[in-house]
Amino acid sequence: MGQLAFEGKELQRPAHTVRTYAPASGELLAELPVTSDEDVRRIVARARKAQAAWAVLPVEERATRLLRLRDAFAERAEDLVEVVSRECGKPRHEALVHEVTTLLDLVGWVCKHAPGALATERVPLHLMKHRSSEVHHVPRGVVGVVSPWNFPLIIPMGSVISALVAGNACVVKPSEVTPLVMLEAKKIYDSTGLPEDLFAVVVGYGATGQALIEAGIDYCVFTGAVETGRRVAAACGQRLIPCTMELGGKAPLLACEDCDLERTARAVVFGGFANCGQVCVSVERVYAHERVYAPLVERVRTLVGELRQGDPAQDFVDLGAIIFPKQIDVARRHVDDALKKGARVLCGGRSVPGPGQFFEATVLADCDHTMTVMREEIFGPVVPIMRVASDDEAVALANDSHLGLNAYVFTRDRARAHRLAERIEAGSVVVNDVLSNYAAIETPFGGIKQSGFGRVHGVDAIREMCTRKHLSFDRVPPPPRDPFWYPYTAKSFHWLQRGMRLLFGGGSLAKRIGELF
Ligand code: NDP
Repeated sequence: MGQLAFEGKELQRPAHTVRTYAPASGELLAELPVTSDEDVRRIVARARKAQAAWAVLPVEERATRLLRLRDAFAERAEDLVEVVSRECGKPRHEALVHEVTTLLDLVGWVCKHAPGALATERVPLHLMKHRSSEVHHVPRGVVGVVSPWNFPLIIPMGSVISALVAGNACVVKPSEVTPLVMLEAKKIYDSTGLPEDLFAVVVGYGATGQALIEAGIDYCVFTGAVETGRRVAAACGQRLIPCTMELGGKAPLLACEDCDLERTARAVVFGGFANCGQVCVSVERVYAHERVYAPLVERVRTLVGELRQGDPAQDFVDLGAIIFPKQIDVARRHVDDALKKGARVLCGGRSVPGPGQFFEATVLADCDHTMTVMREEIFGPVVPIMRVASDDEAVALANDSHLGLNAYVFTRDRARAHRLAERIEAGSVVVNDVLSNYAAIETPFGGIKQSGFGRVHGVDAIREMCTRKHLSFDRVPPPPRDPFWYPYTAKSFHWLQRGMRLLFGGGSLAKRIGELF
């Protein structure tokens, strides 16, 4: 117990072990062996075997068995909250609500809706009336999940549940700084009697993630930074493995002139500082209409002053710790750049002396797009606010980004909200609320632009775990000689030409047939 020597994210350090620390105290929590590349390959091979037996079960049966996981996770909720809060440095409220509760809900929803989502689809053919088609959802095989540290339970387990219910096996490589959470989840999984090799966890650095992609997986769900995503997508491309990319965000919040000021201010504070701002959908920039700018800024300052920050293991705090020192450097760099270019610090702006890594909840006013804080992902407890003159200006600035994950609009006018939501370039736009769409697990979640592609959650996520296989049948006994086959003759060409004119040539019969299609 208790080595106070946090070394941060050790991606570059070749090592045979991973050390995991409590970011709020610096305490060494565990030192774990890195899974060797050879073991990664062995684990994937075992998962493939287990998958073959699992995939032949009807989806209803798989869903029924997987529901056991919900009971097991619910029973061990306290342990999960404890390990998530300790290893991530986040308040226990957040570990309970954002991670454990969302996961329990997700397991139930996915198990209930997977049979419908994966049901065979019959496709009526408009032209080839003599044939019938159906589309089956076939599991991909072994799904590799490479996940980040900021939501070490719900992010990987959300994909694990979708993968398993769809008939796949799943191997997860959690972040090197939060491996204990997934190892706890695996322990709970093993207690349910589900096939042991069907779900596995490998431990290690980025190289272990790379080894997982090279170990013969059939699909990869990656969640992490844009730059890592590029490398992972390239590695998948090299092997022609399809993938889902859940990458960074730079969520704008538009505070319209008619917004409910109190709710908007509270949304800025919660959306900006939950999980210490280390959320891909954090409020990362605020565009406030000039008529509400001054009171909003003032109210945000007051509310931030009421936040309590500290070690979540010691007390009920609102803000916990920063995961590793590099993230503090990023926050400091953004703040310094903004101050140099004319921003004002309303509150915070400094790191807090250890033990543990803390950065004060920081609000910057008078920001503009020359500042990195408005353009690059912060992923820390810093919220920049900019004054705008109109909705049009706010939308233009919101869209002036290489990222497009979440966006938020605050207004009392439903029609205005719709208009703005349609114009903002993002995977999700949330009106008069923040962060909540991630917990609406029946809806697709994911980004556009460099925030990635593919979707987690909802029916889309379950289906993305499958390939779509088309089965085509004859409806009537087919003739021995098919008029579309050989030999090609002048006569057959003539009849085909007449048929084409009849169907598509613009005459009244063609029109009438066309309407039927
Ligand atoms: P990273 O990109 O650093 O790491 C993500 C995962 O990839 C980790 O498990 C990491 O391992 C692994 N990895 C690193 N290099 C490679 C490689 N070459 N091949 C395979 N795997 C590799 O992200 P962070 O963990 O720092 O997470 C923060 C980022 O994640 C932010 O940008 C955030 O916006 C984004 N994110 C996006 C979400 C979304 O849904 N769109 C949700 C949550 C976060 P290791 O940790 O050991 O280096």
